[in-house]
Amino acid sequence: MTYLSGKKIVVMGVANKKSIAWGCAEAMETQGAEVIYTYQNDRMKKSLQKIVSEDAFLVECDVASDESIQSAFSQIKDYAGEIDGIVHAIAYAKKEELSGNVTDISRDGYALAQDISSYSLIAVSKYGQEILSENSGIVSLTYIGSERAIPNYNMMGIAKASLEASIRYLAAELSPKKIRVNGISAGAIKTLAVTGVQDYQKLIQLSEDRTPDHIGVTIEEVGNTCAFLISPLSSGIIGDVIYVDKGVHLS
Ligand code: NAD
Repeated sequence: MTYLSGKKIVVMGVANKKSIAWGCAEAMETQGAEVIYTYQNDRMKKSLQKIVSEDAFLVECDVASDESIQSAFSQIKDYAGEIDGIVHAIAYAKKEELSGNVTDISRDGYALAQDISSYSLIAVSKYGQEILSENSGIVSLTYIGSERAIPNYNMMGIAKASLEASIRYLAAELSPKKIRVNGISAGAIKTLAVTGVQDYQKLIQLSEDRTPDHIGVTIEEVGNTCAFLISPLSSGIIGDVIYVDKGVHLS
């Protein structure tokens, strides 16, 4: 039995087949959902077109721009009417803010990382809520670097702490409208975004060393939890951040 049959879910942040968002999209399709994809720019559109089916609905959405987000959700409304969920799997910080000293983070770099990696969830929720159905879900992706000082994760750790607080505040605001907002704290996975962190191999190694079988969590495992959190099966979970890291957070 599939538990997302007939549901329409917007997935934001697929860059390629290694993206966590791709694991989420595939899991939701397996559960019977139709996935609507957003992409950042033309380069990402080309990359996305190579991996999605020909009839998939793709919409440009650069989260740096309110106009772009508003226009994306207006196009999605015209196409789908209502939607049943949004996966926000988007983050960005300049390379120089993901190495060295936290005291060297620039004012501009701080603002940019917070804007794309944290504020964007608020902006997406603002426009998304207008077309989200009752009993729908919003899920965003975070990392344990929000709670612990992980070497070189620096600016992104600070942005993820802000993202997690945003998840809780958004959840409190939107739950009376029957929209649940939650987060997944995923273990380190080799994707395009993670390679921006200096010595990112050590992050991946850390995640593999601490799992019981020394195999790091996969995008499929993160995707399955995401599909569950989007679905009404998780109706009791509101404003939470769930670890999907195969136990890395335990030690
Ligand atoms: P990824 O590079 O595959 O995905 C990042 C996505 O962010 C890309 O699709 C990119 O186009 C998008 N993006 C960046 N700036 C954007 C903008 N201005 N507008 C629209 N989209 C924009 O990497 P990923 O690791 O799959 O990242 C997805 C999420 O998962 C991120 O929030 C990341 O921090 C989080 N996460 C990743 C890991 C990991 O180890 N890879 C662990 C925990 C959490």
